[in-house]
Amino acid sequence: MSVFLFNEIIFGPVRSRRLGLSLGVNLLPLHKKYCNFNCVYCECGWNGDNKSIILPSKKEVLSSLEKYLQEIASNKKPKPDVITFAGNGEPTMHPDFTDIIDTTINLKNQFFPEIKIAVLTNATNLDKTAVINALKKINLPILKLDTFIESDFYKINNPINKNINVKIIVDNICNHFENPIIQTMFFKAHFDDGYIFDNTNENSLNEYFSALKRISPSLVMIYSVARDTPMQNIFKIDLDKLNEISQKIESFGFKTLVTP
Ligand code: SF4
Repeated sequence: MSVFLFNEIIFGPVRSRRLGLSLGVNLLPLHKKYCNFNCVYCECGWNGDNKSIILPSKKEVLSSLEKYLQEIASNKKPKPDVITFAGNGEPTMHPDFTDIIDTTINLKNQFFPEIKIAVLTNATNLDKTAVINALKKINLPILKLDTFIESDFYKINNPINKNINVKIIVDNICNHFENPIIQTMFFKAHFDDGYIFDNTNENSLNEYFSALKRISPSLVMIYSVARDTPMQNIFKIDLDKLNEISQKIESFGFKTLVTP
């Protein structure tokens, strides 16, 4: 498979249907993935060993960001709608994540207060007060929830720490966030051991809807597989089905955004 990895701290900006013009910030290693999940569909590929993980320093991140903002101010670079923390893994795993968020808020407010900040996170670090507080300070904390069925969660999100479970993740979301943004990847997968995953079937959707009703999201971002996946036998969900799921979610009073 071809692996999609970022080789810079600051990347883009790219036009995103979900976020507008988005300037990416990669707090993870360059050329290498670092995540506490190992999702079967991850476009960054499978996790490698964690022996030679070198994360960009807080200073490197902030000086790169400041340089970019200065270049916007002098009309050398386009102004993004949003600064998005994403990249080669899980951004909240960076040890200086909270400091970096605080400084990014101050920095962008000096230049362009209207630029929003988003973080794409798998929500596993919502047991840490500092991470929760940092995510609450930004405009768009976007929290992953692909399934509310425990066995499916272990199969597809593949957490490294098997003590993490999706019930606790949803409890943490509900306990700490009012109306967060949820993002969900819908797909089907056939595992080598015979396990069949399909988070679009009736049972899976009913469990997922029950979690959404508890979370009461301000927006649910729905999408399916768009790039190569590390696991074979992963199947994309067509737009009609995504729209059908979206309509059901909207019938509960939650907004959705479908990305084909
Ligand atoms: S949480 Fe994101 S970065 Fe981590 S394995 Fe899953 S898709 Fe990849």
